Amino acid sequence: MIYLDAAATAPVRREVLEAMWPYLTGDFGNPSSHHGVGESAARALADARAAVAAWLGCRASEVVFTSGGTEADNLAVKGIALANPRGRHVVTTPIEHEAVLESVDHLVRLHGFSVTFVPVGRDGLVAPDDFAAALRPGTTLASVMLANNEVGTVQPVAELARLAHEHGIPFHTDAVQAAGWLPLDVGTLGVDALSVSGHKLGAPKGIGALFVRGRIPLEPVLHGGGQERGRRSGTENVAGAVGLATAARLAADGLAERAAAAAAARDAFVAAVLAEAPGAEVTGHPTERLPGTASFVFPGVNGEAVLLELERRGVVSSSGSACAAGSEDASHVLLALGYPEDVARTAVRFSWGPDVTAERLAAVGPAVGEAVRAVSRLGDGPRGAH
Ligand code: PLP
Repeated sequence: MIYLDAAATAPVRREVLEAMWPYLTGDFGNPSSHHGVGESAARALADARAAVAAWLGCRASEVVFTSGGTEADNLAVKGIALANPRGRHVVTTPIEHEAVLESVDHLVRLHGFSVTFVPVGRDGLVAPDDFAAALRPGTTLASVMLANNEVGTVQPVAELARLAHEHGIPFHTDAVQAAGWLPLDVGTLGVDALSVSGHKLGAPKGIGALFVRGRIPLEPVLHGGGQERGRRSGTENVAGAVGLATAARLAADGLAERAAAAAAARDAFVAAVLAEAPGAEVTGHPTERLPGTASFVFPGVNGEAVLLELERRGVVSSSGSACAAGSEDASHVLLALGYPEDVARTAVRFSWGPDVTAERLAAVGPAVGEAVRAVSRLGDGPRGAH
């Protein structure tokens, strides 16, 4: 089996599990406890925070551990927008993950906010001019993802953040999919908040982090014992934080070489699929894209049936995001990119981690061709087209 659904989730790396083990067993303490067991856990948490801060290029006090990417996005969007007294307007894009879109929707429905969705082109890119035009005096937050989870397009976040700052508007980016492939230095990116999630990176599900610049006011989403400097109450997931820190160290090590090798393998894979399946189209931006993602539409072919045919051939992939895969709706990302609904329903996303070699990926191209031909032979048209 070759697992090409790493954008949905990735296995826990051995080094990560080994680093976590002591904090699940002997050093299991609560970091708030004033005894040796608790103090040992508190030290591990502080070390993990320092390591995540080094990865993101920020101060340790600017790292808030969360339960994952969804919580980090909720805390950034609701927490910053609600704490900012300058107005009730947010700017985002229609291709964000549901964690951002639904948080924005919450602000609209329950807190009287309005929202401007900056359109994206067919390549998934936000044009800086369109972004600038959406900013208003009453805008309290702009949130644009660093890399898209379905098509892999990477946004010009540094430029967008600069434009937001010209108007004094705080800028958040969802870096959940970029983590492990792109440098996440928050100084270079110029962002005020950035979300990451452990399980896309070789740490377990249930841990993530939000960087929030020190001077940015933040209204907590979870209330309780005041952990994480009052920004996120709840007994800390010490082992998870240690795991995230370990995964971050591994991700930062040799990043540029790994990303370049994966990008070359991706380009060869894309070329192979396009040659094998005439009529297929690669989605997202041709160059500004994640090294570990390649998504296609196969107009006239049932994408779900292609997934099944691929799995029969030992290739595990997905129809888009894991959330969209479980629903009957066409991908909101592909619709925003301008694909018609029947074409959007034919999407297949391949995504992989650093463990997948170029040789293994190369073997998948012919399998995609076989799967598409098998589905076309069966005369199984696109879902919803009948
Ligand atoms: N943001 C993006 C871009 C994602 O791809 C995901 C997960 O698929 C999330 C946020 C949510 O992260 P988590 O699964 O850790 O809640």
